[in-house]
Amino acid sequence: MPLIKIIPLQFPAVEELEKMLSIISNRFKMETSLSTRPFDMNPYFNPVRSQYNANEIIQKLVTSAAENNKIVGITELDLFIPVLRYIFGQAYLGGSAALVSGHRLHNSRYGLAEDPNLYFNRLLKCLIHELGHAFGLKHCLKLGCVMVSTTYVEEMDQKSDLFCHSCQAELTELTQ
Ligand SMILES: [Zn+2]
Ligand SMILES: [Zn+2]
Repeated sequence: MPLIKIIPLQFPAVEELEKMLSIISNRFKMETSLSTRPFDMNPYFNPVRSQYNANEIIQKLVTSAAENNKIVGITELDLFIPVLRYIFGQAYLGGSAALVSGHRLHNSRYGLAEDPNLYFNRLLKCLIHELGHAFGLKHCLKLGCVMVSTTYVEEMDQKSDLFCHSCQAELTELTQ
């Protein structure tokens, strides 16, 4: 039975993730589970950038994914890939692993009052977006679709956590 497995990577608010399990399960029509296994992020820290290397973390996650399963690592630590200043998340197209960071999704990071609901929604959008990639979906240009590419948190707020009609149709085909 294929499974979407969510692994907290030094992510303190595990109860937030529990709330997401049923939403993710519904959206992808797959069972979900939350791992309790501790994951050491120290080997992936880059002291020059004071960030964590997303490519290396994903490679590690891939090795622990069972056949047909998708594994999603979720962290509060700041992620980078060498060509970008920061990333919200990363996944290999049609691969078995994805990675998401809540680090830059907090309003407080941008000098605004913290908004837990907004943070939760942003994190959920990131998770669904990266999982979409892991299932084989590419970026979409349709306004509001969760698969629209986002660089800034404001853009994140302009899209929904839903797939547009054509992304949904493609996902259904990919997951059959
Ligand atoms: Zn993307
Ligand atoms: Zn779309």
